[in-house]
Amino acid sequence: MCKNKTRKMPWISKEKCIGCGVCVKICPAGAISMKEGKAEINMENCIRCGKCHDVCSYEAVRHDGERIPIEVKENVEKTKRLMENFKTEKEKQEFLGRMKKYFNKEKIVAEKTLEKIKNIMEDKNA
Ligand code: SF4
Ligand code: SF4
Repeated sequence: MCKNKTRKMPWISKEKCIGCGVCVKICPAGAISMKEGKAEINMENCIRCGKCHDVCSYEAVRHDGERIPIEVKENVEKTKRLMENFKTEKEKQEFLGRMKKYFNKEKIVAEKTLEKIKNIMEDKNA
């Protein structure tokens, strides 16, 4: 789960970006803009061509996979924060059960999507 769509594939490390603007010029989809001196990707427009990653000399455009531990941490922290709304141990356990169901649903959506993409790839190769 990710709260912020702009964090998804690819994403720009604000710490590494020096704001040179090269990626803004190269992006064929006009998906990158500068915000407060740092590049930012609008994922609604991004066509995932990877050009921004290739062109950045500062390694500021990062691979999505690097966000896995960050997003896991965010999910766990959110779960703990929401759990504070429940007083009794029973309520907390029920809440955790619902969170498990939610993340399991996300997993199934991802698995089924991957299956469909695999089918599309196989159709193309046929
Ligand atoms: S090319 Fe790299 S350093 Fe330059 S603005 Fe884009 S992300 Fe930032
Ligand atoms: S992956 Fe391609 S479309 Fe997406 S932001 Fe980078 S250059 Fe633009």
